[in-house]
Amino acid sequence: MKMQSVILAAAMSFAFGNCWASDLAIVHAKIYKEPGAAPVVDGTVLIHDGRIAAVSKDVPLPSGTTVLPCDGCVVFAGFWNAHVHFTEPKWLGASTLPRDKLEQQLRDMLTHAGFTSVVDTGSDPGVTTALRRRIDSGEVAGPHIRTAGLPLYPAHALPFYLAGLPAEVRAMLPQPESADEARRIVLANRAEGADITKLFTGSIVAPDKVVPMREDIAAAAVLQSHQLGLLVFAHATNLAGVRVAMASGVDVLAHAPEDVGGIDSSLIRELARKRLAIIPTLKLFSQDHNIGEIRSVVLQAHRAGVRLVFGTDTGFLTDYDVAEEFRQLTLAGLGTDDILTMLTTAPAALFKIDGHQGRVSPGMDGDLTVLGADPKTDGIRAFSDVRYTIRGGQLLFTGSRDGR
Ligand SMILES: [Zn+2]
Repeated sequence: MKMQSVILAAAMSFAFGNCWASDLAIVHAKIYKEPGAAPVVDGTVLIHDGRIAAVSKDVPLPSGTTVLPCDGCVVFAGFWNAHVHFTEPKWLGASTLPRDKLEQQLRDMLTHAGFTSVVDTGSDPGVTTALRRRIDSGEVAGPHIRTAGLPLYPAHALPFYLAGLPAEVRAMLPQPESADEARRIVLANRAEGADITKLFTGSIVAPDKVVPMREDIAAAAVLQSHQLGLLVFAHATNLAGVRVAMASGVDVLAHAPEDVGGIDSSLIRELARKRLAIIPTLKLFSQDHNIGEIRSVVLQAHRAGVRLVFGTDTGFLTDYDVAEEFRQLTLAGLGTDDILTMLTTAPAALFKIDGHQGRVSPGMDGDLTVLGADPKTDGIRAFSDVRYTIRGGQLLFTGSRDGR
């Protein structure tokens, strides 16, 4: 038994290099173990072997512990961004680009904002799984990545914003015409490394025209996904798309509906009853004439008990600043603890990994987002004052006091 653990430790150390070799501690920090809890003041978090070993006021530090300089730091469980895309041309070389370049791109896009876990809701699976492999092997410092691979679109109804793609690429995008074909695509995506399925239950084929996915096709994709243990995310767009998502058993609306016509309180109660989660992505809609109505739907959903999860559509949006998302969520009427729930415990529960993610307590993964100010007392701009992003005890990003 003992020999086996020695061999295992040696194998782990070989696989992960020195990333998690030393213990890591943050001292004299304000620590929020979970949303809504009173903070530990002047506390210490110790990470050992990639997991949180201790959280309290007095923690003896083993010799050799790396102590991060941190004056007035505020510690949270690692933040999630549950709606991103690795689709910009700069990711195409993910399997061959130098490590430093990939790490810089990941910092620019994601970890500068504190994200330790991201969900890619649609990209070329060859690219995204190559990136993920290099991160998971310990070669490249980056966040946990979950991916949908290629999304499923309604037949002959690609979104208008994909019109710029070459015809041969458009033809390759999955547009199942039958339930059988939908099942086959889900299986093929899974074989390529997908961990969720993304459906366009309402596809915007022109700025003022939405084509819903056929309900039997959506239902077949959902059933096959659930049999594989995959959650299903949907881009629903409008009432018809939301109805297809609800009827087919989708788990998550990847955006708030942007056309709110007919989205009334009884429909919102139905969303809650069916336990659909919503990723609002309000920054994406912030210039829309009806942003106030979209925000109101998000607040009503929250009050009706719909689980909200944080996400920004970063990657589709090539401006990576997420301060506007926090501002919009606050304008919608959500409080700081609601937003912290969206960033931590809600996504962990959605993916059923709340046993080891989403909270700062002993035994949990060593994923931390460390801010230089407290959004609960210093205002929501504090969410953008990221001092450290830490995954499994490995430092992914270090911010300066004066911003980036
Ligand atoms: Zn998106």
